Amino acid sequence: MIRFDIITLFPRMFDSPLQESLLKKAQERGLIEIVVHDLRDWTQDRHRTADDTAYGGGAGMVMKVGPIVKAIESIRKVPATSRAVLLTPQGKPFSQDVAGEFSSYTQLVFVCGRYEGVDERVLSFVDDEVSIGDFILSGGEIAAMVVIDAVSRLVPGVVGDEASVREDTFSNGLLKYPQYTRPPSFRDLNVPDVLMSGDHEKIRRWRRQEALKKTLQRRPDLLEKAGLSDKDATFLKSI
Ligand code: SAH
Repeated sequence: MIRFDIITLFPRMFDSPLQESLLKKAQERGLIEIVVHDLRDWTQDRHRTADDTAYGGGAGMVMKVGPIVKAIESIRKVPATSRAVLLTPQGKPFSQDVAGEFSSYTQLVFVCGRYEGVDERVLSFVDDEVSIGDFILSGGEIAAMVVIDAVSRLVPGVVGDEASVREDTFSNGLLKYPQYTRPPSFRDLNVPDVLMSGDHEKIRRWRRQEALKKTLQRRPDLLEKAGLSDKDATFLKSI
């Protein structure tokens, strides 16, 4: 069971994306809990101000440190088993490994930036800064959803078939093998014979080799960390 808390200026953004399919079922079954908080609940003035102009001038607004820190402190339950995470393009790159690491906590509290980002002093009150890629989004909300989705899949029971998580792209360090379903023939494209042979050992070997081949072609950088067997290495040399 993991509890995800989200601190945002736009709570309604989370209404629909987290209420479909796998994540919906996971919440219904009590495997994960998602709680969305309106950052303005921790502001103090009549206008519920959460941002202000930047010291030193320049374009755009900066999110104030006070409300964010108060929100984190009141939402966080057990600091030892929880993590406060700021979504920012300047953070460490999110990956399947980071998702795995996050899945071992009981609570993750996400801070979603907007505008020009957050006051630098917020960094002293979070444990992690995470980026979902080298591009700029208009807010941290979609990034938080990405992280929540990827981490939830690693919570035992969320994905019905555990084997499917193990075989996912990245989980074993490789891209996933090609997959097919009916019909056996579409236009002039046929399903490889081996998959219909019923020979499980042969299928297993074919899938491993296809995964290796695809990874070599598209993401050779992944192969170095993939923990290949001698057999894998021999196969790669042969192509
Ligand atoms: N001016 C900032 C970018 C602000 S974008 C800069 O140049 O670094 C506004 C907010 O969107 C950020 O505070 C962050 O919460 C979110 N965001 C934008 N891109 C992101 C990314 N690649 N990963 C995670 N969060 C991102």
